[in-house]
Amino acid sequence: MSLFNVYPLFDITPTFAKDVYVYDENNTKYLDLYGGHAVISIGHSHPKYVAAISNQVKKLGFYSNAIQNPLQTQLADKLTSLSGSKGYQLFLCNSGAEANENALKLASFHTHKAEILAFKNSFHGRTSAAVAATDNAKIVSPLNAQQKVNFVSLGDLEAVETILKQNKTCAVIIECIQGVGGLDESTTEFYQGLAILCKTYNTVLIADEVQSGFGRTGDFFSFQKHHITPDIISMAKGMGNGFPIGGILIHPSIKASFGLLGTTFGGNHLACSASLAVLEVIEEENLIQNATEISAYFIEKASEIPEVKKVKGRGLMLGLEFDFPVAELRKKLIHKHHIFTGSAKNPNLIRILPPLTVAKKHLDLFFDALKEALK
Ligand code: PLP
Repeated sequence: MSLFNVYPLFDITPTFAKDVYVYDENNTKYLDLYGGHAVISIGHSHPKYVAAISNQVKKLGFYSNAIQNPLQTQLADKLTSLSGSKGYQLFLCNSGAEANENALKLASFHTHKAEILAFKNSFHGRTSAAVAATDNAKIVSPLNAQQKVNFVSLGDLEAVETILKQNKTCAVIIECIQGVGGLDESTTEFYQGLAILCKTYNTVLIADEVQSGFGRTGDFFSFQKHHITPDIISMAKGMGNGFPIGGILIHPSIKASFGLLGTTFGGNHLACSASLAVLEVIEEENLIQNATEISAYFIEKASEIPEVKKVKGRGLMLGLEFDFPVAELRKKLIHKHHIFTGSAKNPNLIRILPPLTVAKKHLDLFFDALKEALK
């Protein structure tokens, strides 16, 4: 049987990984500044994480959500203390798209409205509702096209108000710092204005922290820089360091009732133990502070390279913008210098999404390689 061919693949087969390094079948060592698309938060195969999952699988890997699972409560408590999201309620699922799908569904139940407002260049995953919240999706199925999603430009509060005023929009969904769209971020004034408009027009504000959450930007959640209080926060990627887990944090103003949301696998014992280990390591190793410190070093080093026209992003969700397409440069970095980087919708942008354990010495390797590759 062949695989359904939807991914253009690099010709590399990773077989082993440790912290910020990935090794292929020939034992070639690659520096991972991509983190499997911002997924690897605490480093590959962290011993504490490996032990947590291994010990849990020996005891109980999964049982249904219809029976008590104290690991979910432990995870909720740890999340509250590290993220500062006091009073929020946690619903667990398995991926980013599923988190957003549940967030949108909940918004629709809560407001009794059906339309969604998203921002140009945003990306919220591939589901019947959430894929439509992606104006840059190349392929939109008839089902997706029927879903009514309005798109406005990031930063345009007037356009937001024009739509919310019609009283049909259940949710505004936003990445406070855009991922695949190219790391654009608006002003604090804009995010605060957006939160006020959502309150005024009874619209649920969903902060999509699937990529930017779990410390990646130097705050636990990227919206925290702007001092707003979203109604729902969606999370995934860095939450499990590779173990599939997603979730939404739900403001206390939105009430639960039996059967409102549900999932078979979400919040299973293995996923919870993986995510608990992630949070413990983030705390013990001060990884959020490391993200901030290493980010400053990255920006300083990048400023020494004349070909870099702009450094985008914050924390360890970063991009280097050039005035030429970077596909060839990325190929050189991976095949000649053995460094993984990421791409974006903008063909001139290299994205840097390393494990939060990355150190200055790794960036030194990267910038030496980049200078060489630019020659
Ligand atoms: N939201 C954002 C901001 C993302 O970057 C992604 C994935 O790249 C998703 C949602 C979808 O997550 P998943 O691929 O886990 O469904």
